[in-house]
Amino acid sequence: MMNPLLPQPVGRFAPSPSGPLHFGSVVAAVGSYLSARAAGGRWLLRIEDVDAPRSVPDAAEGIIHTLARLGFEWNGPIVWQHARLDAYAEALQLLRDRGWVYGCACTRKMLADAPRAADGSARYPGTCRAGLAPGQSARAWRFRVLPGVVHFVDAVQGPVAEDVLADVGDFVLLRADGLFAYQLAVVLDDAAAGVTEVVRGIDLLPSTARQIALQQALELPTPAYAHLPVVVDAAGQKLSKQSLARAVDELPDEQVLFDALACLGQAPPVQLRGAPLAQIWAWAQAHWSLDAVPRSAAVPARRDYDR
Ligand code: GLU
Repeated sequence: MMNPLLPQPVGRFAPSPSGPLHFGSVVAAVGSYLSARAAGGRWLLRIEDVDAPRSVPDAAEGIIHTLARLGFEWNGPIVWQHARLDAYAEALQLLRDRGWVYGCACTRKMLADAPRAADGSARYPGTCRAGLAPGQSARAWRFRVLPGVVHFVDAVQGPVAEDVLADVGDFVLLRADGLFAYQLAVVLDDAAAGVTEVVRGIDLLPSTARQIALQQALELPTPAYAHLPVVVDAAGQKLSKQSLARAVDELPDEQVLFDALACLGQAPPVQLRGAPLAQIWAWAQAHWSLDAVPRSAAVPARRDYDR
């Protein structure tokens, strides 16, 4: 039951419009939705189209339509990152004024031999940290990471510690192609919307320490984090557009919701299989337990969800 003395949680789902909604994204959406709503909180929807070249035309509308069909109800207007560029520019300027960012002249080719970070991305060796050589000009803008370890307790995965400077190095906030980086946009968007809890797929766990470091530099609050297992196909591959995951639109809504709850360890009773959506949602809200979510990195999907 909702405690009127406790602040109500604000959760969100933030899909990138790179294709139709697949089952893995539905699981993240259901987890974030129930975490906020079962506690009497709000749930927001944001379309992460900051990486315009990777956005697929009409994908956002398709995702919104699918979420509505599955019975999700979001609070307030949908936020689109393409409408937030001024806020990103303003924050970047503030960070520049305070010495948190510096221009970087390195090309992809120059960084090709840099050591790899844990997630396989290149660790920035700090080449331009002390300033650009005469004649060089900035291509991208990087965040000057403080030395030390970022600690947080993930509500599903437990304590996490990451040395961002050692593992990732100074990371890009404004890319050489003129686009703002996801890391900056997500931190600013969550703070502007008053998000108190970020519930998302474990594939984003390696980004969290970077986001906390940015929140600290921008003097923004750090939300609570819960990273859900990702859904994998029979071959153990994460369901994604690349793995040719099936669009959930092709399957009955009731089945998709029921299976998402099962993947989240909620053990919906078999009598609910095939029940109307409203009935499944009512059961899910009444029985939601974050503690029941598997503490593993991956959960398998039924065969229906890949091809
Ligand atoms: N837009 C990201 C994605 O679709 C999610 C970002 C987030 O939840 O922080 O993978």
